[in-house]
Formats: sequence, C-alpha cells, structure tokens
Amino acid sequence: MIKFLPLGGAGEIGASCFYLNISGTGIILDCGMHPVKIGIDSLPRFELIKDEPIDYALISHAHQDHLSALPYLVQSHPYVRVITTPQTRAIAELTLHNSVSILKEQLSDEDKIKIYTHEEIDLLIQSIEYKSYGNAFNVNGYKHNSDKAITAQFYDAGHILGSAGILIEHKGQRIFYTGDINLDKQALLPGAELPLGYVDVLILETTYGATDSQTILSWKNEADRLASAINKILIDGGSVLIPVFSLGKMQEIITTLWYLMHRHKLPYTDIYTGGIAQKISRVYDYNRYVVNMIDPEFEISSIPQKDLYSVETNEDFFKNPCIVLAPSGMMMEGTASYNLARRWIKQSNSAIFTVGYMEESTPGFMFTNAVKGDKININNTIEEVKCTIDQFRFSAHSKREELLDIVNRLNPKTIILVHGDPQSIDWMGASILKKYKSIKLYQAELGKKIIL
Ligand SMILES: [Zn+2]
Repeated sequence: MIKFLPLGGAGEIGASCFYLNISGTGIILDCGMHPVKIGIDSLPRFELIKDEPIDYALISHAHQDHLSALPYLVQSHPYVRVITTPQTRAIAELTLHNSVSILKEQLSDEDKIKIYTHEEIDLLIQSIEYKSYGNAFNVNGYKHNSDKAITAQFYDAGHILGSAGILIEHKGQRIFYTGDINLDKQALLPGAELPLGYVDVLILETTYGATDSQTILSWKNEADRLASAINKILIDGGSVLIPVFSLGKMQEIITTLWYLMHRHKLPYTDIYTGGIAQKISRVYDYNRYVVNMIDPEFEISSIPQKDLYSVETNEDFFKNPCIVLAPSGMMMEGTASYNLARRWIKQSNSAIFTVGYMEESTPGFMFTNAVKGDKININNTIEEVKCTIDQFRFSAHSKREELLDIVNRLNPKTIILVHGDPQSIDWMGASILKKYKSIKLYQAELGKKIIL
C-alpha cells in the first residue's frame, strides 16, 4: 500500500514537504522552510508523522522552501538517510551555514525553535548521500514489508543547478515528483529531462497555473526588453538595482547581462554582486561539465564583478552608472536589496527592475507594484518613489501549458497537484480534467492523507 501525506507546500508555495509510505518504508520528499513565515510556523508539520516510519529524505533542490528545514528533521530523526544530487549537497553546505547567522537575527525565544549550530550543519552535510542524475538507487526502509525493492532516481529538472525530479518505483508502480521543474531553457540551464514511458502517479508543481503564458516572454525576448530598459537608465547617468535570489536567479541574470554586453545590446558597465551568490556561482562553474549546461565552456566567475559589500557608502553606487544584483529576491526587510531600494527610490535617474516572483506579503511586492510618483509606506515612513520601477519575468518554472505537456508525456493514472496557490491549482485541475477524463486528480491538502 502507498500513502501520501502533505506536511507543507499544499495549496500554497510554502514549505514543500510530502510524506510517502510505501509498504512500510517512510520517504520524505523535500523538507523546506516557508520563505515568508518565521519560527515554528515556517517549518513543515513533522508532528503529523510522529508515529510513522521515516527512513529517507529525498531533496529535489537546494532552494530554501525545499531544503532548509532539513536540520530540524535531523534533530528529531537523527537516523533519517538524506539523499540529494551532488550539486544540491554542495549548495546546501553554503546556504545552510549562511542561514545560521540569519536565523540568529530573526528568532527569539517566542518562536519556539532551536537555532542549529555550524557543527550540526557540518555533521548533516557529511551524512548526506549523493546520487547523480540517471542512476537508480535502493530506498528500502527498516520496516519494509515487501520482497520487492523500492528504487529512486533523479532526473535533471532544469530549474537551478542540481535540481531534480524524483522517480520512485516499487512493484511496477512508478511515482514521479516534479519538484520545481522548467522544461524551457534559461541562460545557463537547458531545461528539464523527464523519465521515459508512463508513470502511475504524478506529483506536479503548479507555480504558474494561474499565470497567462502570454505574459511570460521567451528568455531571449525578455532579455532584449530588459536591455532596452537598462540602456535608458544608463544613458541618463543612472544606476539599476536588480533584486535577485542568490541561488539560481543571480547566476542566470548575470549571465544574461554579460551576453547582452557581448552582443553590444548593453554597454560594458560595472556589475556589483556579493556574498553567498558568488560562492554559489563557483559551484555552478565547477559543475559545468558534470551536468547539462547550454555552454559548458562558460564560467560565471569570468564575468568582472565588484563586491557589493565593500562599497563604503550607498552614494558610491550613483557616482558612475552601474548594475547592482542584490539579495534577497523578494526584498525581505533587512536584506541588501531592501536597504538599497530605500536609497534607490530617491534617485530620479535610476531604476529598480525586478526579475522574478514576489509573494504578496513581501516588501518586493510593494516595490514592484509602485510607479514613479507613488507614495509608499516603508517602516511607517511615507516616501515618494522618484526612480523608475518596472518588472520583468525570467521564469525558472514551466509555463502552465508546459505543465500540461508533462501530463501528456507521462500519461499518469493519478495526479496530485502541489506547490501552487488555489487559483493555480484550480486552473491546472480544470484543464487536466477537461482533456483527460479518466485521470484521478487530487489537490494536496495539508495533513490530508491520500491512499494511492
Ligand atoms: Zn525552487
């Protein structure tokens, strides 16, 4: 018997975490932290599986909302075997150490969770087993009550470096979890690979289910649009702030800018980056012959970059036109992009250009939706927006028609929709049922068990 139980990431893009019980073997798919919530509310609901076997945690990729609760899972279940791709393990080492200091700043005793230490992270990273794409491995648990093995295999998900869709097979049953998946190419990554043949159960992300694909241009067209917007600012002597996630978006956007400069669509201009993003870029570089890349010869570290954090005052960014790639992507309070945006909005010849998804409750959503002349409330101070603000969409997720294409190619009997807001899940659900009347369709609900 196979049971599926969502512990997070159901009906929202939150802390992705799903529990599978296959003939007595407990497998956790992803173990994320909610990107906006803080403290105990940011963690998956591990208490829902307190009486269940937990043998393995398979992690699809290293984004915070898929991996960052792992130290808490390991604190309560020290014997769980964690398996990722080698690239996810290498990135996790950087991001989990980095989050120790961030959590120390964010958390107080009221948040009821213990902050883990650098030593605990070292032990966790050492214990992570890694499997490369395309190699099946056994995941039989301690209480496994079948003579048939359970195997798992990672497929390149084309979302960020090391991202994986996960195929699990047992007694001829095939379950495929997409994780975050992108069929289309970005600047560095060429797009996802899917298992050959059919699957029985498809656990499908639905991030862009409610987004009209007409609003998501191809990477190249969006790059051209960004180049022309940046040019207008640089010619006027202004500087451009681009908030980015340090993992994935930063590497793809700096590469896009560099190609635009090479093709003379942008003038060679100082680019500022910094912190953990540069370290992650090096992981991309040294894996460039190991995983599929559009141009394995290309190294992100070969792009001249100035250090964002060694600038003496923010005024230095306006002495000469420049482009600043600053974390966090959703401009969370206290981060570099948030602090710089507060200065940027005062500068009439400059611009803030956003390049990714903004959750509605974040400062990034407020900044993105403001235009020149608007008054916005920043920490109870009303400020006038004097700079240009515009949004661009460089997607690391599949468009909704591509998600339907995944359904078409894998031809599942059962689909479970995850990782999307209610509107996204509604659109995907209705579209799937219209086309495939015999598919059994579930929307994942937190704590609600599905028997497969
Ligand atoms: Zn992701």
